[in-house]
Amino acid sequence: THEDHRLVYDLSEGTAAMRPLLGGKGAGVAEMIRIGVPVPDGFTVTTEACVVTMEAGGTWPEQLWDEILAHLDALEQRTGRRLGAAERPLLVSVRSGAVMSMPGMMDTILNLGISDESVVGLAEESGNPRFAWDCYRRFLQMYGEVVEGVPGHAFEDEISALKSRRGIELDTDLTVSDLQELVETFRTVALRHTGQGLPTDPREQLRRSVQAVFSSWDTPRARVYRRAHDISDDLGTAVNVMQMVFGNRGDGSATGVCFTRNPSTGAKELYGEFLVNAQGEDVVAGIRTPLPLAEMEHVLPDAYRELLDTMHRLEQHYGDMQDIEFTVDDGTLYLLQTRTGKRTAAAALKVARDLVAEDVIDTATALRRIEPAQLDQLLHPGLDPEHGQEPLTRGLNASPGAGVGAVVFDADTAAERGEAGESVVLVRWETTPDDIHGVIAAQGVLTAHGGMTSHAAVVARGMGKPCVAGAGDLQIDVEARTLTVGDTVLAEGDTVTIDGTTGEVYAGALTLVPPQITDDFSAVLAWADDARRLGVRANADTGPDAAKARELGAEGIGLCRTEHMFMAAERLPVVQSMILAETPEDRGHALERLLPMQQADFEEIFTAMSGLPVTIRLIDPPLHEFLPDLVEQSVHVQRLEDAGTTGPELDDARELLAHVKRLSEMNPMLGTRGVRLALLYPEIARMQVRAVARAALAVRERGLDPHVEIMVPLVGFDEELRRMREVVETTWAEEVPDGGVPHTVGTMIELPRAALVADAIAEHADFFSFGTNDLTQTTVGISRDDAEGSFLGAYVDAGILAANPFASIDADGVGELVRIGVRKGRSTEPGLKTGVCGEHGGDPASIALFDEIGLDYVSCSPYRVPIARLAAAQVAL
Ligand code: ADP
Ligand code: MG
Ligand code: MG
Repeated sequence: THEDHRLVYDLSEGTAAMRPLLGGKGAGVAEMIRIGVPVPDGFTVTTEACVVTMEAGGTWPEQLWDEILAHLDALEQRTGRRLGAAERPLLVSVRSGAVMSMPGMMDTILNLGISDESVVGLAEESGNPRFAWDCYRRFLQMYGEVVEGVPGHAFEDEISALKSRRGIELDTDLTVSDLQELVETFRTVALRHTGQGLPTDPREQLRRSVQAVFSSWDTPRARVYRRAHDISDDLGTAVNVMQMVFGNRGDGSATGVCFTRNPSTGAKELYGEFLVNAQGEDVVAGIRTPLPLAEMEHVLPDAYRELLDTMHRLEQHYGDMQDIEFTVDDGTLYLLQTRTGKRTAAAALKVARDLVAEDVIDTATALRRIEPAQLDQLLHPGLDPEHGQEPLTRGLNASPGAGVGAVVFDADTAAERGEAGESVVLVRWETTPDDIHGVIAAQGVLTAHGGMTSHAAVVARGMGKPCVAGAGDLQIDVEARTLTVGDTVLAEGDTVTIDGTTGEVYAGALTLVPPQITDDFSAVLAWADDARRLGVRANADTGPDAAKARELGAEGIGLCRTEHMFMAAERLPVVQSMILAETPEDRGHALERLLPMQQADFEEIFTAMSGLPVTIRLIDPPLHEFLPDLVEQSVHVQRLEDAGTTGPELDDARELLAHVKRLSEMNPMLGTRGVRLALLYPEIARMQVRAVARAALAVRERGLDPHVEIMVPLVGFDEELRRMREVVETTWAEEVPDGGVPHTVGTMIELPRAALVADAIAEHADFFSFGTNDLTQTTVGISRDDAEGSFLGAYVDAGILAANPFASIDADGVGELVRIGVRKGRSTEPGLKTGVCGEHGGDPASIALFDEIGLDYVSCSPYRVPIARLAAAQVAL
């Protein structure tokens, strides 16, 4: 089985296409060898070896160690060096390398092969004892921490102690004897922590290092990262064993990281950092401040020119921006890694557009590469890039966009003040799922603790809220209600600005600027529009929202919720008097006052959407939503009684309480709402239809072109729609006798029964709009409002559910009902127009399903329109 089932490959045997087997790093290095880029020699242990080991609870497949030794042997032959030898020693790195890049999540060991014998040989051979001993102390430090579990700070503390004893600041100022002393100390430290010291045989160290890299696949942080990025736990990591090249050999050596373009802006310019006389980790670890790449031209001119040339070759070869690691060993350049560079949304668009213009890729490739959800970053108000303010502190840029508001220290206060209309920023040490209501009400979230995948970050991203996480300098005193950074103390209520795009935090309010639709954005989305079949509309309830939606590319409104128009402060009393009316006449009076208000709203919307369809949903929520809360009203009456109040004040309060009681339901979501309400009180529906019709006529008078679609919610029985349609059509005909404005009547499909009897319902409908929020609740039997903060999160974490079905459509259940609804609906009404207007309309994974089912359009919130346009293009490519 050795022949057909190898677990180790030489780097020279691999290609980019072998990435699933060799991991991203191994395949990338192999591909560089293939195209003649200078890379150190070595071999790769496959991801399969890791998977088999994990499945066997940590036991290696039988032949693995032999295969590794055979490849090590061959490497020793090729290089003319031996691991751990006193003369011409071979030193290697042992590097993790997952299939999907997980930057920094897993482990790497450098300088393996150095020992009491080989350090002498290396010193002699190089004529540079300092370098040899620097490798030794580095090795003990990394190996001790990564493989034997010695806490990293135990070594760092010793280095700091020595430096302060010697009165020096830089690692590079440590002398040979300092480094020799550190090697001794490190061994003692390791002995103290492990109880048995470190193994001294390099082959045994290699075996343990490979095992450690395998195990690093399963560390909590790696798991969390995978969860946050939808990477499967089953993939495993490859292990790359590569000959060391040395950036720490002296002033003719260096190490660095560079991108072929600027990953923040996408600009085609020099971007990178390097350090002279240093090794790999030093650049990112921030031990010394690296120099900008441009400086390298003066320090190491030949290597610099070769690097630029290689960067260009790699970018051309992959046709995408690359993120590169390099080392210069005594003047000679080596590449150690190349991968697709992670980039901001702005950079993604610019790079895509530039690469198409440069003829490196075609538009389809460009479109496929852009992550639709990432566009969200560009659609939030942000700070003026030129603001020039000094940040108070920094954390992780966990969720993009900027938030300005009063500091609050707990979720209840955030919810209370936020719901009262105040802008607040929730500041917590870290957040828990219990804080969700506070997060919802806040402009943004700031935490002192937790990373990019912390609860705060994940939740904030999910809601498109700015979040800065893990701002470690923040001192939060929840008792005193203060936050302190250095000398600055902010009390609850003081204003802060957080920039989730950069991770910066400012005291006071910085000015926000609206998101900019750049040329890159428009150009790339125009390609998407050419490519997609699915239409994209927006959910919008006001003129400004409709205008914004159109600007962002919406091809109409798929859902206009008319009841939102009832909520405005000056309208609510009129709405209440409509609800409380004792007689049809009284109700009629209230409705007459509401009619012009609604008409004005519709005129604005039709104006913004002239020439495009506008779907207007008749009143949907239960009436008691417009009345005071039952408990609050009871308490109010009680108070009046206790205070001995009598007369009209008490009478009115009691009367209102009686109404609230009469209208309140145990389960309003399944109660008197939607078409049920409109059939009980047809005069409400009639008023709404009149308002729509008059608005349409008015804007047509002004030369505009309204397209009206009237939508009836919560239909479960075809008879409901038949009757309601009659009400709508009769009223419409009274207002628009000549049929002069195009209008259609359709229904929402948001109950399982409606999907199942869609053929009968379609007899009375011109269109269906799947209301997948309610359809999900009623199909999966989970209340969205109650579940998101409780068991649903636990279900997703535990893997009972793959995803939150309210965010991404439950394809097997809800998706199947949509499929049935479309098929049955079209069976009786071949020209039936179909769309989706739930939250899922802006979710890329759901959009793929809707496209496959053959819906005509999706409708989502205005700011998700670009995301939907791109996602719809990607499924069509
Ligand atoms: P990570 O995935 O965390 O970047 P890497 O395996 O890429 O880990 O290695 C960490 C650092 O060590 C990188 O800077 C890399 O360039 C450097 N490095 C890895 N292998 C070698 C080697 N054989 N010679 C010199 N430097 C190396
Ligand atoms: Mg790396
Ligand atoms: Mg609904």
